[in-house]
Amino acid sequence: MQNLWDNATAAGFTSDLDLRVYSSRLLGRDKSLVLHGGGNTSVKIEQQNIFGENENILYVKGSGWDLETIEAAGYAPVQMSHLLKLAQLEQLSDSQMVNELKTHMLDASAPTPSVETILHALLPYKYVDHTHADAIVSITNTQNGEQRIRDIYGDSVVIIPYVMPGFDLSKLCAKIFPQEKNDKTIGMVLMNHGIFSFGDTAKQSYERMISLVGQAEDYLKLQNAWQIEIKTPKEICSPNSQVIANMRKNISEILKTPIVLRHINNQEMLNFCQQDNIHSISQQGPATPDHVIRTKRLPLLTAIENNQQALQSYVSDYVNYFNENNTTESNLTILDCAPRAIIDPEKGFFSVGKSVKEANIIADIYQHTINIIQRSEKLGGYQALPAKDIFDVEYWELEQAKLKKSGSSPQFSGEVALVTGAASGIGMACVKSLLARGAAVVGLDIDPQIKTIFDRADYLGICCDITDEQQLTQSLERTIATFGGLDMLVLNAGIFPSGCRIENLDLTQWNKVMSVNLDANLSLLSKSHAYLKLAPNGGRVVVIGSKNVPAPGPGAAAYSASKAALNQLARVTALEWGSDNIRINSLHPNAVFDTGIWTDEVLTGRAQHYGMTIEEYKTNNLLKTEVTSHDVAELAAELCGSLFAKTTAAQIPIDGGNDRVV
Ligand code: ZN
Repeated sequence: MQNLWDNATAAGFTSDLDLRVYSSRLLGRDKSLVLHGGGNTSVKIEQQNIFGENENILYVKGSGWDLETIEAAGYAPVQMSHLLKLAQLEQLSDSQMVNELKTHMLDASAPTPSVETILHALLPYKYVDHTHADAIVSITNTQNGEQRIRDIYGDSVVIIPYVMPGFDLSKLCAKIFPQEKNDKTIGMVLMNHGIFSFGDTAKQSYERMISLVGQAEDYLKLQNAWQIEIKTPKEICSPNSQVIANMRKNISEILKTPIVLRHINNQEMLNFCQQDNIHSISQQGPATPDHVIRTKRLPLLTAIENNQQALQSYVSDYVNYFNENNTTESNLTILDCAPRAIIDPEKGFFSVGKSVKEANIIADIYQHTINIIQRSEKLGGYQALPAKDIFDVEYWELEQAKLKKSGSSPQFSGEVALVTGAASGIGMACVKSLLARGAAVVGLDIDPQIKTIFDRADYLGICCDITDEQQLTQSLERTIATFGGLDMLVLNAGIFPSGCRIENLDLTQWNKVMSVNLDANLSLLSKSHAYLKLAPNGGRVVVIGSKNVPAPGPGAAAYSASKAALNQLARVTALEWGSDNIRINSLHPNAVFDTGIWTDEVLTGRAQHYGMTIEEYKTNNLLKTEVTSHDVAELAAELCGSLFAKTTAAQIPIDGGNDRVV
């Protein structure tokens, strides 16, 4: 456990809250302490209220903030006097508690205070730090975990038996802590949950956390339970893309929303999946309540080839588990039977998310969980919470209320789009428009810059010559391995050769244009069909055509013919694929000048040729308006959305109105 405190850096922070932010970020940097919004910290500050009276305020981490990146604005200021009064109530539901917390803040725009706020208030120390450290839960989640914690810490920590986070846990701590604490107490261990440290200064509280968790790590080392041996995994045959896309479709159906499926096959994960006792160790439950909501009760353990059958029995098991545990009739309950983690002993691990972000969080949590499980096993056996306790967290009233509220996820969340010619112009604009609507996007381009033009987890750039069939196949396989499926395809890549009259046009030139603008699109359509027909909301294809289809221009024989043939290909596709619920529509843009080929020089030349100013040339259409890449991309994205759910084989001009087309 590394102590990251740096006196020189800390000296730059003078206020109590700034120091709170500094040491919280140090905790957040260590993923074995807190993961993705997990953990929370607080500081108690006396300050003057609007009446000039001194008041004690608890600044506690607000929900939605991550310790690693938290700022002062991420702390909710709550009146201490009210919190201490609340702690004396006999009963308080968690929703009532959250209401009390929110209505007793000093700043109406502050985030919702953590559900562990009252607990922070009760601990009589200026700084309080709370983590779900891997090493701590590796020890508490064993048969004689409590005794082991006593052996490690003696009376330097108070031990709290497991109770679900929220008001009841605060009440229990309020009862036990004052009785058990003594002069040596520097922390509090919550069984099957995590650890608190506290102190008079930010440094003291932080360093106590590091030292307490360090002791737990030392204990694991001493017990030979730290090092996880990585056996050379059995040879892995990469999972078949079709099997993955099928599994994604099946899970999406259970969840009633499209999902992203990520395949994680690193050494550690594969080593875990191939443990002899994987059937028992993976089927116990998550390590701490913080993980329950996101990873759900259990991973699905199966050979993914049999996923349909395995999912059916997972769902019926889950319904039984739900009925057995759901003792209180709550009309808030939204049943969610879909697994979030899938283990195939041959093929490795898959995580499920309603977005790439969610799938990544689950993969990260599970990476930590496998270490916790394997270390607990070395201590004599991993022991998760009983099903009833896991159920109570999974169907926590607060989480249910959140689910009810969150009706408006982005238009394409959980969906996957592929755009060709995506490194510039209309293609790049399409990537942006689809990302903005929540889709995960794969961009293909022959320009190697495609790999780095966007730096975000929901984007994958692949350098690909679309006229090479093998490269196309590999690109689709990478798409499926990265995101789990393919829902939308934007056929944009194309070339526009310089003007050439037919008497001078040779077949080499002609064939080159045909191979990019026509043949490559046939290949990609043909190879994508098997995936598009598995799209949970139906497959969608957008063809970026051209004004040249309805109104060809002299000197552009190859281009015009290729786009016209592509247009006919799209119409036949609509006829053939309608029964697979795949729709295909075409856009015919004209005079889109904010693309790579239209340099200022070319623009000036063309404008002069027609005796116009650049402005006149750009807006030379019925509406006298300029058409941009962004305009085309927005329409392409909308064509994939619900507005056009019942439209296929349409051809839509986007050209400001062209008298040769109307
Ligand atoms: Zn916690």
